Amino acid sequence: MYCPFCNAVETKVIDSRLVAEGGQVRRRRECLNCSERFTTYEIAELLMPRIIKSDGTREPFDETKLRSGLLRALEKRPVSMEQIEGAISAIKHALQAAGERELSSRVVGEQVMQRLRELDKVAYVRFASVYRSFQDISEFQDELNRLAQGGTV
Ligand SMILES: [Zn+2]
Repeated sequence: MYCPFCNAVETKVIDSRLVAEGGQVRRRRECLNCSERFTTYEIAELLMPRIIKSDGTREPFDETKLRSGLLRALEKRPVSMEQIEGAISAIKHALQAAGERELSSRVVGEQVMQRLRELDKVAYVRFASVYRSFQDISEFQDELNRLAQGGTV
């Protein structure tokens, strides 16, 4: 990075160490032009993206909300907490792996449906009926028809 004092391109690292229990690298740098020293921190960007709601407003990703949504859909279904936590991890991982700072709530919804579909067809239909009622009724109807033809509901 450029020197924050004189904007020179060439700086050299004079010290580098792990901090924050190995979660960050702290580097002490010196500008080759003006000799000023400054510190940089390097961390892996694994923050959850912010969620863009359908009305365009943004909110932080809310794991509690995700969990309660899954639990509601999976109420009285033969799915263990371990499986549910596994689904939550998989959803979070998929959202992080997208590498975006902001993601549409629709992407989250699609992820949830994909996981529920693998876990439990009834829970999937429960969630989809609520979720898709705000999106596209005909799409949901097609999905129900597909499931009914498969005889899995
Ligand atoms: Zn400088």
